[in-house]
Amino acid sequence: MAHSDRLLMGPGPCNPYPEVIEAFGRPLLGHLDPEFIDLLDETNDRLRAVFLTANALTFPMSATGSAGMEATFCNVLAPGEVVVIGVNGVFGERMCDVADRLGAEVVRVDAEWGQAIEPQRMLDAHPGPKVIAIVHAETSTGVRNDLEEIGAGKGDALFLVDCVTSLAGIPLEIDAWGVDLAYSGTQKCIGVPPGLSPVTVSQRAIEGFVERSPSWYLDLSMIADYVAGGSTRAYHHTAPISMVYALHAGLGVILEEGLGNAQARHRACGEKLQLGLQEMGFELFAQEGHRLPELTSVRIPLDRLPEGMGEAGVRRLLLDRYGIEIGGGLGPVAGQVWRIGCMGHTARPRNVTLLLGALAEILL
Ligand code: PLP
Repeated sequence: MAHSDRLLMGPGPCNPYPEVIEAFGRPLLGHLDPEFIDLLDETNDRLRAVFLTANALTFPMSATGSAGMEATFCNVLAPGEVVVIGVNGVFGERMCDVADRLGAEVVRVDAEWGQAIEPQRMLDAHPGPKVIAIVHAETSTGVRNDLEEIGAGKGDALFLVDCVTSLAGIPLEIDAWGVDLAYSGTQKCIGVPPGLSPVTVSQRAIEGFVERSPSWYLDLSMIADYVAGGSTRAYHHTAPISMVYALHAGLGVILEEGLGNAQARHRACGEKLQLGLQEMGFELFAQEGHRLPELTSVRIPLDRLPEGMGEAGVRRLLLDRYGIEIGGGLGPVAGQVWRIGCMGHTARPRNVTLLLGALAEILL
């Protein structure tokens, strides 16, 4: 089977929207061409519409989601400053690593993998942190951590949120929920290949920037000037033009469908998948009431794998025979959990039906 036929139902990337693939074929412009600058400005407007924010500093960072994480942390945390970080999976853990490398004092709020983090615990963890940070949609477990209560109770702290797997897939309101810094990725619910990290930063956060970012490339002060069309152009870099075309197109698809409709499509597919898996006798892994529709984690039915075949063998068979990719578990749940994505263009009922049918054919 040709690789182009793959159905990408892993934790990301998903299959891109057809309009996105088309956008890659657009003739290349120079990165300083006024036509490209106009397209970038329009992309930033579309990002504001999807993030639900009026933040002027809203743009696609020219690197993947991890760069968005590094950029947001390294511009607001100086050595010794306190950050409270929620940890219930791989990406909360990564936040701690990033903050620790900056010399920040990390106050962890841990929850068991598969469980959500209680917002009040984040607020009670320290009397006066500079930053409170959490992952909205933990891709390693399929759990949604709730944001609104943290945003409402943050006091003087800056609220920093990882939206890599939530943006455009589940409700998220940057301004209404008091989020000061957020980053995402293009390859999840936006339906674009990996390569850019949409970032948005409030005026409050800009006022809290460190004096000098330890990274040149991730310096949000310079980028703010670039995004605003500033005359110094101190952040002179060769923007990945074709990726920006692709993001512009993907956001266009979502806004034309309607953000609420796109989220409803993700929800319907997630519910269909989770119900179907339960009907087949599978046990869902993530805490009930906090399950992400776009990323389903399910306990692997180890007693129903074909004779002599491990769980990785089943995933390989899904890929080779049906062209369907799903993801394995990470960290403490490796070998115990599968992670099934239903994101972006992949979030279609027919894809759910196909996967459930394939699993029914393979498993005992
Ligand atoms: N945060 C979350 C929640 C993620 O799921 C991912 C990637 O899967 C990242 C951060 C890192 O993003 P990237 O792989 O694009 O660097």
